[in-house]
Amino acid sequence: LTILGLESSCDDTAAAVLRGREILSSVVMGQAELHAAFGGVVPEIAARAHAEKLDLAVEQALEQAGIPLEEIDAVAVTAGPGLIGGVLSGVMTAKGIAAGLGKPLVGVNHLAGHALTPRLTDGLSYPYLMLLVSGGHCQFLVVRGPQDFSRLGGTIDDAPGEAFDKTARLLGLPQPGGPSVEAEAKAGDAARFAFPRPLLDRPGCDMSFSGLKTALLRMRDRLAETQGGLRAQDRADLCAGFQAAVRDVLAEKTRRALKTYLAEAPAEPAFAIAGGVAANGEIRGALQALCAEAGVRFTAPPLRLCTDNAAMIAYAGGELLAAGEASDMSLAARPRWPLDKGAAPMLGSGR
Ligand code: ATP
Ligand code: FE
Repeated sequence: LTILGLESSCDDTAAAVLRGREILSSVVMGQAELHAAFGGVVPEIAARAHAEKLDLAVEQALEQAGIPLEEIDAVAVTAGPGLIGGVLSGVMTAKGIAAGLGKPLVGVNHLAGHALTPRLTDGLSYPYLMLLVSGGHCQFLVVRGPQDFSRLGGTIDDAPGEAFDKTARLLGLPQPGGPSVEAEAKAGDAARFAFPRPLLDRPGCDMSFSGLKTALLRMRDRLAETQGGLRAQDRADLCAGFQAAVRDVLAEKTRRALKTYLAEAPAEPAFAIAGGVAANGEIRGALQALCAEAGVRFTAPPLRLCTDNAAMIAYAGGELLAAGEASDMSLAARPRWPLDKGAAPMLGSGR
Protein backbone atom coordinates (compact mmCIF):
# COMPACT_ATOMS: atom_id res chain seq x y z
CA LEU A 1 0.00 0.00 0.00
CA THR A 2 1.41 3.40 -0.99
CA ILE A 3 0.14 6.08 1.40
CA LEU A 4 0.39 9.85 1.18
CA GLY A 5 0.56 11.51 4.62
CA LEU A 6 -0.13 15.15 5.50
CA GLU A 7 0.74 17.00 8.72
CA SER A 8 -0.09 20.63 9.53
CA SER A 9 -1.14 20.75 13.17
CA CYS A 10 1.52 23.12 14.52
CA ASP A 11 4.28 25.03 12.74
CA ASP A 12 5.56 22.43 10.27
CA THR A 13 3.91 21.80 6.92
CA ALA A 14 4.78 18.20 6.05
CA ALA A 15 3.99 15.59 3.42
CA ALA A 16 5.38 12.09 3.01
CA VAL A 17 4.96 9.00 0.87
CA LEU A 18 5.24 5.57 2.51
CA ARG A 19 5.12 2.08 1.08
CA GLY A 20 4.68 -0.29 3.96
CA ARG A 21 7.46 0.68 6.38
CA GLU A 22 9.60 2.16 3.64
CA ILE A 23 9.75 5.97 3.68
CA LEU A 24 9.89 6.97 0.00
CA SER A 25 9.92 10.67 0.88
CA SER A 26 9.40 12.94 3.89
CA VAL A 27 9.19 16.67 3.28
CA VAL A 28 9.05 19.03 6.28
CA MET A 29 8.70 22.77 5.69
CA GLY A 30 9.26 24.75 8.89
CA GLN A 31 7.80 28.16 9.66
CA ALA A 32 10.25 29.24 12.36
CA GLU A 33 11.24 32.46 10.59
CA LEU A 34 7.57 33.51 10.25
CA HIS A 35 6.99 33.28 14.01
CA ALA A 36 10.45 34.29 15.26
CA ALA A 37 9.54 37.93 15.90
CA PHE A 38 6.55 36.95 18.07
CA GLY A 39 8.27 34.62 20.55
CA GLY A 40 5.85 31.77 19.83
CA VAL A 41 3.70 30.20 17.14
CA VAL A 42 0.97 32.64 15.98
CA PRO A 43 -2.05 30.48 15.02
CA GLU A 44 -3.34 32.83 12.30
CA ILE A 45 0.07 33.08 10.61
CA ALA A 46 0.57 29.32 10.89
CA ALA A 47 -2.83 28.59 9.31
CA ARG A 48 -2.13 30.89 6.39
CA ALA A 49 1.32 29.39 5.80
CA HIS A 50 -0.08 25.85 5.85
CA ALA A 51 -2.78 26.81 3.34
CA GLU A 52 -0.11 28.28 1.07
CA LYS A 53 2.46 25.49 1.38
CA LEU A 54 0.50 22.22 1.61
CA ASP A 55 0.17 21.79 -2.17
CA LEU A 56 3.86 22.41 -2.63
CA ALA A 57 4.77 19.95 0.14
CA VAL A 58 2.60 17.26 -1.51
CA GLU A 59 4.12 17.99 -4.92
CA GLN A 60 7.65 17.70 -3.53
CA ALA A 61 6.89 14.53 -1.58
CA LEU A 62 5.50 12.83 -4.71
CA GLU A 63 8.41 14.04 -6.82
CA GLN A 64 11.05 12.88 -4.33
CA ALA A 65 9.29 9.52 -4.02
CA GLY A 66 9.12 9.22 -7.79
CA ILE A 67 5.43 8.32 -7.49
CA PRO A 68 2.73 9.90 -9.66
CA LEU A 69 -0.37 11.02 -7.72
CA GLU A 70 -2.47 8.31 -9.44
CA GLU A 71 -0.38 5.59 -7.78
CA ILE A 72 -1.30 6.70 -4.25
CA ASP A 73 -3.57 4.09 -2.60
CA ALA A 74 -4.77 6.16 0.38
CA VAL A 75 -4.44 9.59 1.98
CA ALA A 76 -3.72 9.96 5.72
CA VAL A 77 -3.97 13.31 7.48
CA THR A 78 -3.55 14.71 10.98
CA ALA A 79 -7.11 15.50 12.10
CA GLY A 80 -6.04 16.85 15.53
CA PRO A 81 -5.10 17.77 18.15
CA GLY A 82 -3.49 21.06 17.21
CA LEU A 83 -4.04 24.62 15.99
CA ILE A 84 -7.40 24.34 14.31
CA GLY A 85 -6.64 26.52 11.26
CA GLY A 86 -3.69 24.39 10.26
CA VAL A 87 -5.48 21.10 10.98
CA LEU A 88 -8.42 22.28 8.83
CA SER A 89 -6.09 23.13 5.93
CA GLY A 90 -4.62 19.64 6.07
CA VAL A 91 -7.99 17.89 6.36
CA MET A 92 -9.44 19.92 3.45
CA THR A 93 -6.42 19.21 1.25
CA ALA A 94 -6.52 15.50 2.09
CA LYS A 95 -10.26 15.31 1.36
CA GLY A 96 -9.70 16.98 -2.01
CA ILE A 97 -6.94 14.57 -3.02
CA ALA A 98 -8.77 11.47 -1.74
CA ALA A 99 -12.02 12.47 -3.45
CA GLY A 100 -10.20 13.34 -6.68
CA LEU A 101 -8.45 9.96 -6.73
CA GLY A 102 -11.44 8.01 -5.42
CA LYS A 103 -9.14 6.51 -2.76
CA PRO A 104 -9.63 6.03 1.01
CA LEU A 105 -9.12 8.89 3.44
CA VAL A 106 -7.98 8.30 7.01
CA GLY A 107 -7.82 10.82 9.87
CA VAL A 108 -4.94 10.33 12.31
CA ASN A 109 -4.41 11.60 15.85
CA HIS A 110 -1.11 13.50 15.82
CA LEU A 111 -0.05 11.99 19.15
CA ALA A 112 -0.83 8.50 17.85
CA GLY A 113 1.54 9.31 14.98
CA HIS A 114 4.32 10.02 17.51
CA ALA A 115 3.42 6.97 19.61
CA LEU A 116 3.44 4.53 16.66
CA THR A 117 6.78 5.78 15.27
CA PRO A 118 8.82 2.99 16.98
CA ARG A 119 6.85 0.48 14.92
CA LEU A 120 7.78 2.31 11.75
CA THR A 121 11.46 2.69 12.66
CA ASP A 122 12.16 -0.46 14.71
CA GLY A 123 9.23 -2.77 14.00
CA LEU A 124 8.29 -3.11 17.69
CA SER A 125 5.39 -5.46 18.49
CA TYR A 126 2.47 -4.51 20.72
CA PRO A 127 2.44 -3.85 23.61
CA TYR A 128 5.49 -1.65 24.14
CA LEU A 129 6.24 1.06 26.68
CA MET A 130 6.93 4.52 25.38
CA LEU A 131 8.29 7.68 27.00
CA LEU A 132 7.44 10.75 24.97
CA VAL A 133 9.74 13.49 26.22
CA SER A 134 10.07 16.78 24.37
CA GLY A 135 9.68 20.53 24.68
CA GLY A 136 5.93 20.20 25.02
CA HIS A 137 5.29 16.67 26.23
CA CYS A 138 6.30 14.19 28.89
CA GLN A 139 4.27 11.03 29.36
CA PHE A 140 4.48 7.26 29.64
CA LEU A 141 2.24 5.28 27.32
CA VAL A 142 1.69 1.59 26.97
CA VAL A 143 1.00 1.26 23.24
CA ARG A 144 -1.28 -1.73 22.56
CA GLY A 145 -2.64 -0.95 19.12
CA PRO A 146 -3.18 1.94 16.68
CA GLN A 147 -6.14 3.07 18.77
CA ASP A 148 -5.26 1.57 22.09
CA PHE A 149 -3.05 3.52 24.48
CA SER A 150 -2.83 3.54 28.27
CA ARG A 151 -1.25 6.53 29.92
CA LEU A 152 0.72 5.56 33.02
CA GLY A 153 1.57 9.11 34.06
CA GLY A 154 3.21 12.29 32.93
CA THR A 155 4.36 15.74 33.96
CA ILE A 156 1.98 17.81 36.02
CA ASP A 157 3.66 21.07 34.97
CA ASP A 158 6.60 21.74 32.59
CA ALA A 159 7.98 19.25 30.09
CA PRO A 160 11.70 18.49 30.55
CA GLY A 161 12.68 20.13 27.24
CA GLU A 162 10.98 23.31 28.39
CA ALA A 163 12.90 23.09 31.69
CA PHE A 164 16.18 22.71 29.76
CA ASP A 165 15.26 25.74 27.63
CA LYS A 166 14.40 27.86 30.69
CA THR A 167 17.60 26.79 32.45
CA ALA A 168 19.64 27.89 29.44
CA ARG A 169 17.84 31.23 29.41
CA LEU A 170 18.48 31.77 33.14
CA LEU A 171 22.19 31.09 32.61
CA GLY A 172 22.55 33.11 29.41
CA LEU A 173 23.18 30.03 27.24
CA PRO A 174 21.94 29.74 23.62
CA GLN A 175 18.60 28.17 22.59
CA PRO A 176 17.53 25.43 22.22
CA GLY A 177 18.59 24.87 25.80
CA GLY A 178 18.94 21.08 25.77
CA PRO A 179 22.14 20.81 23.73
CA SER A 180 23.78 23.86 25.36
CA VAL A 181 23.02 22.73 28.92
CA GLU A 182 24.26 19.22 28.11
CA ALA A 183 27.52 20.62 26.68
CA GLU A 184 28.08 22.88 29.74
CA ALA A 185 27.32 20.01 32.12
CA LYS A 186 30.21 17.95 30.74
CA ALA A 187 32.68 20.11 32.69
CA GLY A 188 30.46 20.37 35.76
CA ASP A 189 30.20 18.75 39.17
CA ALA A 190 26.63 17.49 39.59
CA ALA A 191 27.06 17.09 43.35
CA ARG A 192 27.94 20.72 44.14
CA PHE A 193 24.36 22.03 44.21
CA ALA A 194 21.52 20.16 45.90
CA PHE A 195 18.74 20.07 43.33
CA PRO A 196 15.45 18.48 44.44
CA ARG A 197 14.09 15.24 42.93
CA PRO A 198 10.41 16.25 42.66
CA LEU A 199 7.60 13.73 43.25
CA LEU A 200 9.88 10.75 43.89
CA ASP A 201 8.30 10.46 47.31
CA ARG A 202 4.91 9.92 45.73
CA PRO A 203 3.81 6.63 44.16
CA GLY A 204 3.07 6.38 40.45
CA CYS A 205 4.58 7.82 37.31
CA ASP A 206 3.61 11.49 37.49
CA MET A 207 6.49 13.97 37.29
CA SER A 208 7.18 17.63 37.93
CA PHE A 209 9.98 19.76 36.51
CA SER A 210 9.06 23.38 37.17
CA GLY A 211 10.55 23.28 40.69
CA LEU A 212 14.00 22.53 39.26
CA LYS A 213 14.02 25.79 37.38
CA THR A 214 12.93 27.69 40.49
CA ALA A 215 15.71 26.00 42.50
CA LEU A 216 18.22 26.96 39.81
CA LEU A 217 17.03 30.56 39.82
CA ARG A 218 17.55 30.75 43.61
CA MET A 219 21.04 29.24 43.38
CA ARG A 220 22.00 31.58 40.56
CA ASP A 221 20.81 34.66 42.46
CA ARG A 222 22.60 33.59 45.63
CA LEU A 223 25.86 33.22 43.69
CA ALA A 224 25.34 36.60 42.05
CA GLU A 225 24.80 38.15 45.48
CA THR A 226 27.74 36.55 47.25
CA GLN A 227 30.35 36.77 44.51
CA GLY A 228 28.96 39.44 42.19
CA GLY A 229 28.26 37.17 39.24
CA LEU A 230 28.54 33.67 37.79
CA ARG A 231 31.89 32.08 37.00
CA ALA A 232 32.24 29.57 34.18
CA GLN A 233 32.61 26.75 36.71
CA ASP A 234 29.40 27.80 38.52
CA ARG A 235 27.51 27.65 35.25
CA ALA A 236 28.88 24.18 34.46
CA ASP A 237 28.09 22.91 37.98
CA LEU A 238 24.53 24.29 37.84
CA CYS A 239 23.96 22.64 34.44
CA ALA A 240 25.37 19.33 35.67
CA GLY A 241 23.25 19.42 38.84
CA PHE A 242 20.09 20.30 36.94
CA GLN A 243 20.65 17.61 34.30
CA ALA A 244 21.36 14.96 36.93
CA ALA A 245 18.08 15.84 38.67
CA VAL A 246 16.07 15.49 35.43
CA ARG A 247 17.89 12.23 34.69
CA ASP A 248 17.19 10.79 38.15
CA VAL A 249 13.49 11.69 38.04
CA LEU A 250 13.04 10.24 34.54
CA ALA A 251 15.00 7.12 35.49
CA GLU A 252 13.06 6.40 38.69
CA LYS A 253 9.69 6.99 37.00
CA THR A 254 10.77 4.83 34.05
CA ARG A 255 11.73 2.07 36.47
CA ARG A 256 8.20 2.18 37.91
CA ALA A 257 6.57 2.35 34.46
CA LEU A 258 8.62 -0.67 33.33
CA LYS A 259 7.46 -2.59 36.39
CA THR A 260 3.79 -1.90 35.60
CA TYR A 261 4.33 -2.74 31.93
CA LEU A 262 6.24 -5.95 32.63
CA ALA A 263 3.51 -7.15 35.00
CA GLU A 264 1.44 -7.84 31.86
CA ALA A 265 4.17 -10.24 30.68
CA PRO A 266 4.54 -8.85 27.13
CA ALA A 267 5.89 -11.45 24.68
CA GLU A 268 8.63 -9.16 23.32
CA PRO A 269 9.21 -6.52 25.97
CA ALA A 270 10.38 -3.23 24.47
CA PHE A 271 10.79 0.39 25.48
CA ALA A 272 11.00 3.40 23.19
CA ILE A 273 12.05 6.92 24.07
CA ALA A 274 11.01 9.66 21.65
CA GLY A 275 11.06 13.46 21.53
CA GLY A 276 13.83 16.04 21.47
CA VAL A 277 15.06 15.27 25.01
CA ALA A 278 15.86 11.69 23.88
CA ALA A 279 18.94 13.26 22.27
CA ASN A 280 20.44 13.80 25.75
CA GLY A 281 23.27 11.32 26.26
CA GLU A 282 23.08 11.33 30.05
CA ILE A 283 19.32 10.66 30.15
CA ARG A 284 19.41 8.18 27.31
CA GLY A 285 22.29 6.28 28.91
CA ALA A 286 20.45 5.98 32.23
CA LEU A 287 17.27 4.65 30.62
CA GLN A 288 19.21 2.30 28.36
CA ALA A 289 20.94 0.83 31.42
CA LEU A 290 17.58 0.35 33.20
CA CYS A 291 16.20 -1.52 30.18
CA ALA A 292 19.27 -3.73 29.92
CA GLU A 293 18.88 -4.62 33.58
CA ALA A 294 15.19 -5.44 33.14
CA GLY A 295 15.75 -7.47 29.96
CA VAL A 296 13.74 -5.02 27.87
CA ARG A 297 14.73 -4.01 24.33
CA PHE A 298 15.65 -0.31 24.18
CA THR A 299 14.89 1.76 21.06
CA ALA A 300 15.06 5.44 20.15
CA PRO A 301 13.75 6.55 16.75
CA PRO A 302 16.01 9.00 14.88
CA LEU A 303 15.32 12.61 15.79
CA ARG A 304 13.93 13.63 12.38
CA LEU A 305 11.15 11.07 12.94
CA CYS A 306 10.60 12.17 16.57
CA THR A 307 9.93 15.79 15.65
CA ASP A 308 6.81 16.64 13.65
CA ASN A 309 6.72 14.91 10.27
CA ALA A 310 4.20 13.33 7.90
CA ALA A 311 5.86 9.91 7.60
CA MET A 312 4.52 9.01 11.06
CA ILE A 313 1.03 10.14 9.99
CA ALA A 314 1.16 8.03 6.82
CA TYR A 315 2.37 5.07 8.87
CA ALA A 316 -0.35 5.41 11.54
CA GLY A 317 -2.91 5.87 8.73
CA GLY A 318 -1.77 2.57 7.23
CA GLU A 319 -2.31 0.77 10.52
CA LEU A 320 -5.76 2.32 10.95
CA LEU A 321 -6.74 1.30 7.41
CA ALA A 322 -5.54 -2.24 8.05
CA ALA A 323 -7.78 -2.22 11.15
CA GLY A 324 -10.75 -1.12 9.01
CA GLU A 325 -10.78 2.41 10.38
CA ALA A 326 -11.00 4.52 7.21
CA SER A 327 -12.67 7.93 7.56
CA ASP A 328 -15.14 9.50 5.16
CA MET A 329 -15.85 13.01 3.88
CA SER A 330 -17.40 13.96 7.22
CA LEU A 331 -13.94 13.73 8.87
CA ALA A 332 -13.68 16.66 11.29
CA ALA A 333 -10.67 18.69 12.41
CA ARG A 334 -10.34 18.54 16.19
CA PRO A 335 -8.40 21.08 18.27
CA ARG A 336 -8.44 18.70 21.27
CA TRP A 337 -8.24 14.95 21.02
CA PRO A 338 -6.86 13.02 24.02
CA LEU A 339 -5.03 9.85 23.05
CA ASP A 340 -6.65 7.59 25.59
CA LYS A 341 -10.15 8.41 24.29
CA GLY A 342 -9.64 6.26 21.17
CA ALA A 343 -7.80 7.30 18.03
CA ALA A 344 -10.71 7.25 15.57
CA PRO A 345 -11.92 10.75 14.72
CA MET A 346 -15.50 11.47 15.70
CA LEU A 347 -17.73 12.10 12.74
CA GLY A 348 -19.81 15.19 12.18
CA SER A 349 -19.01 18.33 14.11
CA GLY A 350 -16.09 16.77 15.94
CA ARG A 351 -17.43 17.91 19.28
P1 ATP B 1 6.31 19.06 21.01
O1 ATP B 1 6.52 18.68 19.57
O2 ATP B 1 6.27 17.89 21.91
O3 ATP B 1 5.16 19.97 21.24
P2 ATP B 1 8.86 20.39 20.73
O4 ATP B 1 8.58 20.72 19.34
O5 ATP B 1 9.53 21.41 21.57
O6 ATP B 1 7.56 19.92 21.49
P3 ATP B 1 10.96 18.48 20.10
O7 ATP B 1 11.30 19.18 18.85
O8 ATP B 1 10.74 17.02 20.07
O9 ATP B 1 9.69 19.05 20.81
O10 ATP B 1 12.10 18.74 21.18
C1 ATP B 1 12.68 19.99 21.40
C2 ATP B 1 13.11 20.03 22.84
O11 ATP B 1 14.13 19.05 23.08
C3 ATP B 1 13.68 21.37 23.25
O12 ATP B 1 13.08 21.78 24.45
C4 ATP B 1 15.16 21.08 23.43
O13 ATP B 1 15.79 21.88 24.41
C5 ATP B 1 15.16 19.63 23.84
N1 ATP B 1 16.45 18.99 23.57
C6 ATP B 1 17.08 18.88 22.38
N2 ATP B 1 18.30 18.32 22.53
C7 ATP B 1 18.44 18.07 23.85
C8 ATP B 1 19.48 17.52 24.67
N3 ATP B 1 20.63 17.13 24.16
N4 ATP B 1 19.25 17.43 26.01
C9 ATP B 1 18.09 17.83 26.56
N5 ATP B 1 17.08 18.37 25.85
C10 ATP B 1 17.25 18.49 24.52
FE1 FE C 1 4.33 16.70 17.52
